[in-house]
Amino acid sequence: MSSSKPPLLWLNVFIFTASFVLGVLVTPWYAYNFGLSWVHFVCLVAAFSFSNLSITAGYHRLWSHKTYQANWVLRLLFAIGGALSLQNSALHWSSYHREHHKHVDHKHKDPYSASRGFWYSHIGWMLREYSHLEKLDYKNCRDLKKDKIVMWQHQHYAVLALLTNLGMPLVLGLIFNDILGMFLVVGALRLLLSHHSTFFINSLAHIWGRQTFTDKNSARDNGILAILTFGEGYHNFHHLFENDYRNGVYWWHYDPTKWLIASCSWFGLSSNLRTTPQLRIEKARAKMQLQMTHKKMASIDACPSLIANIEHEFEAMMACMASYYESKKQLLQNKRQRVLESYELSLLKQRHQQLKADLKQQRQIWRNSVRVYA
Ligand SMILES: [Zn+2]
Ligand SMILES: [Zn+2]
Repeated sequence: MSSSKPPLLWLNVFIFTASFVLGVLVTPWYAYNFGLSWVHFVCLVAAFSFSNLSITAGYHRLWSHKTYQANWVLRLLFAIGGALSLQNSALHWSSYHREHHKHVDHKHKDPYSASRGFWYSHIGWMLREYSHLEKLDYKNCRDLKKDKIVMWQHQHYAVLALLTNLGMPLVLGLIFNDILGMFLVVGALRLLLSHHSTFFINSLAHIWGRQTFTDKNSARDNGILAILTFGEGYHNFHHLFENDYRNGVYWWHYDPTKWLIASCSWFGLSSNLRTTPQLRIEKARAKMQLQMTHKKMASIDACPSLIANIEHEFEAMMACMASYYESKKQLLQNKRQRVLESYELSLLKQRHQQLKADLKQQRQIWRNSVRVYA
């Protein structure tokens, strides 16, 4: 049986096993016998945040999806933090991730397909020489090959990975006089947490949560995963609107990566932040609600007049949304170009307020109608 499986990638097996043993067994043993202080904890949180944000804001939203542009300082930081996270080079990571989006859930073409189960999509795909590894030629990342920092990191990845993973705990250990403690906490435990929280996006975020915007793929929105992954848990939204720099699209969504990218733009470190038009987002969400309501109605054999009523409310809300967002667009255009006379502008503002009230009312009716079948 085992002979049919591809050979193991021993370096990966060693890294994942060693960080697990050191992080889960040796670190608590060390803490019990020699003690750890709040300094270790602060260093752990800082190193974990640096390494994971380099993946989410750098590898993922900047390089894989080009959702914004970043200046060289930010890109250099992400390249170093990415090496610290030990998830291969940005070029390699992005190439895999673009294939994941292009062929999501395909059993062979998606490198970490959720259709092959939790273990495979979480870590199994990195433990053996599966065939997709051989085909990787970075053809889908021609744009990234023009980024000097990406190529520098790719060419010197092994050295950078060693320097950051051994160098950072060593320097902290020398400063705080506990080299072994820092090696265990900031080296091994941080790596373990960083790896698995990122891997959850490929595994759990395709299994656990709500399909808020689409059911064309297995990606899910999950607020708990968002907390563990610096905002990447809103994965259903992300798979439908992958060019948006946000994953948590609403203001109350916990998405520190989105906040980091937006804050960097205030200091000129990031620019051209891409967002999806709100109308498209709202339409997708309402369509999913309609689809789910249809399913529920079919399961209880609801009478045709009720189904017609729901469809009528849906169409009414779509019409309200289209008018509201159109008037919003006109207002924004005028703000930029100032083409309207003052009386025309006041009429437009009045109409906009009316449309806003109409949409609010129609949304409430829609929510009430849908809630009955939730
Ligand atoms: Zn993505
Ligand atoms: Zn995904």
